[in-house]
Amino acid sequence: KNNAPKIKVSLIEKINSLLPRDIIDLLIKIANLADKTNYPVFLVGGIVRDLILGRRNEDVDVVVEGDGPAFASKLAKEVGGDIRVHEKFGTATWRLHSGLKIDITSARTEYYDFPAALPTVHLSGLREDLYRRDFTINAMAIQLNKDKFGDLIDLFHGYQDISQKKIRTLYNLSFVEDPTRILRAVRFEQRFGFEMDEQTFDLAQISVDKIRLTSKPRLAYELSRLLSEKHPVESLKRLDEIGVLNFLITVNSYDNSMIKQIKNFKLIFDNVSSQLTNPPTNVSQAWICYLVLLFSKLDNGFEQVNMFTLNNENKKTIEEIKALLEGKYHFSKNNTSGSLHHTLKNYRIESILCFTILKQFPNKIAENITRYLIERQAIPKLINGNDLKALNINPGPIYSKILQQIECDYLDKKVSSKEEAILMIKENY
Ligand code: ATP
Repeated sequence: KNNAPKIKVSLIEKINSLLPRDIIDLLIKIANLADKTNYPVFLVGGIVRDLILGRRNEDVDVVVEGDGPAFASKLAKEVGGDIRVHEKFGTATWRLHSGLKIDITSARTEYYDFPAALPTVHLSGLREDLYRRDFTINAMAIQLNKDKFGDLIDLFHGYQDISQKKIRTLYNLSFVEDPTRILRAVRFEQRFGFEMDEQTFDLAQISVDKIRLTSKPRLAYELSRLLSEKHPVESLKRLDEIGVLNFLITVNSYDNSMIKQIKNFKLIFDNVSSQLTNPPTNVSQAWICYLVLLFSKLDNGFEQVNMFTLNNENKKTIEEIKALLEGKYHFSKNNTSGSLHHTLKNYRIESILCFTILKQFPNKIAENITRYLIERQAIPKLINGNDLKALNINPGPIYSKILQQIECDYLDKKVSSKEEAILMIKENY
């Protein structure tokens, strides 16, 4: 199957057209040192795939056939920057003062006593490194040594798989060894419009039960990456098709109504996000909302989603959704933005929209909430605590109450300037 003739591919042009100048300069410096130290050095992983695909990617991963950390130290000495060595893994991270970061790994060469004796042996450290990777398209390397700078090293026919839009594992037990690769396969399928080849799909299907034995944080990490890409709904469908969902949510409850909820959440969330002039700086929590929706029909749904959280932000999102569901708030089609602000001020957009979908509010209420979320980003600070002091109001919890009231009044167009706000306060407090 894989005996297509090897073609020599040079990626110099792609490197020049796709990578920023400062990264290219660094690669050249790496090449110089590689030649000086006589180490074979390679660019590996996602950046190689993306260069071939013509996509931007600035995650520079380098493999050195030899002592990677020592090579990294030499680089830092000659070029500058700091090195952090992770002894246990034989890796080093090289951080330049410009902020650029390069990961440098040692390919294992200890089994090969005479690395320079034969060209095939020469690549065996690299081969081993590449063979541990997930898919052929991610298992290519680009040589950086000067006379071969830019040459593609494609031991597993990844180049051909890219041209045929295929996701293919390197060996049959790949998914059994690491079931998170199934999630990765779906991620790359959706991102690139590729498809697993038949054998890879079959291997994924027969390995899904191993997901049970996989650590939750590792699954959660790959799930978060998968669901944070552009096509989460399609990805979930694909996971279902492979049989993954049954092993994530313990109950087979992925039905059409759930797909519809998840679709609606994405629609409404994308709609609001696209209308924000100042998008929030924190990492989107949308992916955890997909999980909340996915688990929503289970009695202990929230507990189960909690096992997939990666950080406190995720946990907080879940807590917010729970609090909104448990709160005795009254929503009606007559809610103004100001009245919604009273209730929803402290909740993040994702939580509010997930709650909106879970409650299956009628359109009018959902529209009110959407409008409110867009308006709330532009609330000006008409007054502050000092203004209240100047009005002789005794400091205390009343301050935040008044400040919030002014925000609500602003949304309801009852006040629009500092003067009006002060007048309003004088009248009411
Ligand atoms: P992205 O463009 O999303 O960053 P990537 O290919 O760079 O994708 P990473 O998760 O950053 O993906 O991993 C970098 C490289 O490490 C991959 O290209 C792949 O070769 C390898 N890799 C990552 N995770 C695994 C895994 N679970 N099993 C095998 N190889 C992996």
